[in-house]
Amino acid sequence: MLNVDAINNGIVVDHIQAGTSLELYRLLELDKLENASIALIQNVRSSKSGKKDIIKIEGDVSSLNLNILAYLDPGITVATIQDGKIVSKKRPDLPHKLVNVIRCRNPRCITSMEEECDHIFLLSSTGQYRCAYCEQAFELKPE
Ligand SMILES: [Zn+2]
Repeated sequence: MLNVDAINNGIVVDHIQAGTSLELYRLLELDKLENASIALIQNVRSSKSGKKDIIKIEGDVSSLNLNILAYLDPGITVATIQDGKIVSKKRPDLPHKLVNVIRCRNPRCITSMEEECDHIFLLSSTGQYRCAYCEQAFELKPE
């Protein structure tokens, strides 16, 4: 396995569905992290899922909303690392409501037509996020 520099203080987002880390990068707005260095590692071989992506972030991640990771893929884990040691490893909690995090892709949805309309998604009983207006399910598209 490719080993990018070990992290001293930061997080490792692991078990990301292969090919989706770039979209995750955009959704988490990692480009706006000013005091962190970020490594995207794609197509890592994994015994569990065949291939996966990993994102490593060294530095200050306090401004990140990691809960939005959970909607993407319930298999994602986030390990927090302090002084070179893993201090916690967990799955992000699924928020029940996402406001202006993801956008509805239904061209006939009111959120596609009205600029100022909030993009609201609600967690359904099947674990999918559905648009609060048109009920279209959100799916992440691999690159
Ligand atoms: Zn919609």
